[in-house]
Amino acid sequence: MSDIQINIINKTYPAIEQAEAHTAIADLNLTLKSGEFICLVGPSGCGKTTLLNIIADLDNDYQGNIGLSQQSARPKIGYIFQNPRLLPWRTVRENIELVVDDPLSIHIIDSLLELMQLTASQHVYPERLSLGMSRRASITRAFAVEPDLLLMDEPFVSLDAPTARQVRALLLSLWQQRPHTVLFVTHDLREAIALADRIIFLSASPMSVISEISVPIPRAERHDETAIETFRQQLLNDYPAIKQLL
Ligand code: ADP
Ligand code: MG
Repeated sequence: MSDIQINIINKTYPAIEQAEAHTAIADLNLTLKSGEFICLVGPSGCGKTTLLNIIADLDNDYQGNIGLSQQSARPKIGYIFQNPRLLPWRTVRENIELVVDDPLSIHIIDSLLELMQLTASQHVYPERLSLGMSRRASITRAFAVEPDLLLMDEPFVSLDAPTARQVRALLLSLWQQRPHTVLFVTHDLREAIALADRIIFLSASPMSVISEISVPIPRAERHDETAIETFRQQLLNDYPAIKQLL
């Protein structure tokens, strides 16, 4: 897949009843390089979910252009929403099978379930799952479409720290096995440093890019919490404006 150019001139939610019109995004330009893991960090309400919805083609009501059209075929997009959004009347496995139209992909589902440690729970209904298991099931579902671009909207919020660490490690191992572009929204600077090739810091509404940094810590050392904390402190010293975004 080639790079994705994002150019949003304006995204305004129209006035409805008492609420005034609200410009969520203005003059946003981003390039997502093929295979890159990008984290977006910005304050609550700045327009991150709006941006992911536009990229996923769930929202066409904006001025601008998402440069997917130059691609020979439309890239396959996996979208992991902030809430796992599993269908309650389907088992874990049935939720995943729903997004896979190729019967030959059954073996992919089996191996993903295995990797995400869900094989034993595959016939369970969502209400019986812990939050961590639900998150793993929604990640498995997004990976089952074998995406070229994976959108993740604060997917690990409200997981306890050890579970979040475990799910992050599983995510990275899936990403390394099958390279694709990832756009990952988070509030947590440590999480961004642990995951990203590049972190993009976004302003409050209307959203635009404040700064971007590449994470220099080698992949093999990303589990090292001291290295992550040292880099975090360095970032906060070098870019004091970041503190207001977290
Ligand atoms: P974030 O994901 O960064 O927290 P959102 O993209 O959800 O932010 O929202 C950006 C801004 O747009 C917020 O001020 C929010 O209130 C507003 N907004 C989001 N969705 C709608 C909508 N459907 N109608 C009107 N305003 C909206
Ligand atoms: Mg959001």
